[in-house]
Amino acid sequence: MPAVETVLGPIDAKSLGVTLSHEHVLVSMGNDAKAYPWRFDWGATRANAVRELTEAKAGGIDTLIDLTTPDLGRDVRYIEDVARATGMNVVVATGIWRDVPRSFWTRDLDEIADIFVREIEVGIEDTGIKAGVIKVANDMGGVSAEGERILRGAARALKRTGYPISTHQWAPEEVGRRQVEIFQEEGAPMDRICIGHSADTTDVDYLEGLLHTGVWLSMDRYPGAAGRPNWEQRNATVKALVDRGWAHRMMLGHDHAPSPVLTGQTPAPTNQPTRYLFVSTVAVPALMAQGVSLETINTMMRDAPAAFLAG
Ligand SMILES: [Zn+2]
Repeated sequence: MPAVETVLGPIDAKSLGVTLSHEHVLVSMGNDAKAYPWRFDWGATRANAVRELTEAKAGGIDTLIDLTTPDLGRDVRYIEDVARATGMNVVVATGIWRDVPRSFWTRDLDEIADIFVREIEVGIEDTGIKAGVIKVANDMGGVSAEGERILRGAARALKRTGYPISTHQWAPEEVGRRQVEIFQEEGAPMDRICIGHSADTTDVDYLEGLLHTGVWLSMDRYPGAAGRPNWEQRNATVKALVDRGWAHRMMLGHDHAPSPVLTGQTPAPTNQPTRYLFVSTVAVPALMAQGVSLETINTMMRDAPAAFLAG
């Protein structure tokens, strides 16, 4: 298998191991971390992240796909530091999330692709750290005009590089359906695209309709939140799709980020297990108790992410 770019450089795809499909190492409220750095206790923030990634690694997680973009406060030097301190493989992203910067509103679609391609082929900023995945995002209300520009730019970057796209969708409104249409209009290879946050719906037919277009699904945001499917409902959706033969096209994750610690704030109590391990310690044992085999779990947590990232 070919190499996959991580924040510490390329590694063989077969060394990725157990991989979570949609996570973050740091999400710091847009660009607050860079614009207002005095608001953050960086020592405590780093210590918290190192603790959680160390615990995740010890708990059997080998790789995180970190889908943090510039408009989410991406800081690849910080991720590099935490990855080095913990031994966790972290794949970092190019692309843009929901807060599309004004400079992208009128930028030519191919120039948008140029930016994403540069972060894949040359590196992010002046770090030489290369993106391994392209992130895009569309939420409640569907694909906005600005969001559509990012989708089209991402599709073109995928076509030029072969690097995969991982999306954020608002599944209850079936926003992934429109994402797929736009990617199809751009002629993007659908087997290089993952439609994310797909466990936010329990509509198995909607999800299978997406799968039939050739895409992957990230079944993430475990264990759920108020007003959204809980973890048992997420498991039921995953199990239904496994039963329909789609395990090879699904990946699992949490959309978790260790909390940044604000200056003067007391860090959150550390007696809670890291959420990075919820899937492997709670969701997976429950799936297996319902008859999902270890082989199928490995398909979703090892083989599918490796094939998605490596192509
Ligand atoms: Zn996310």
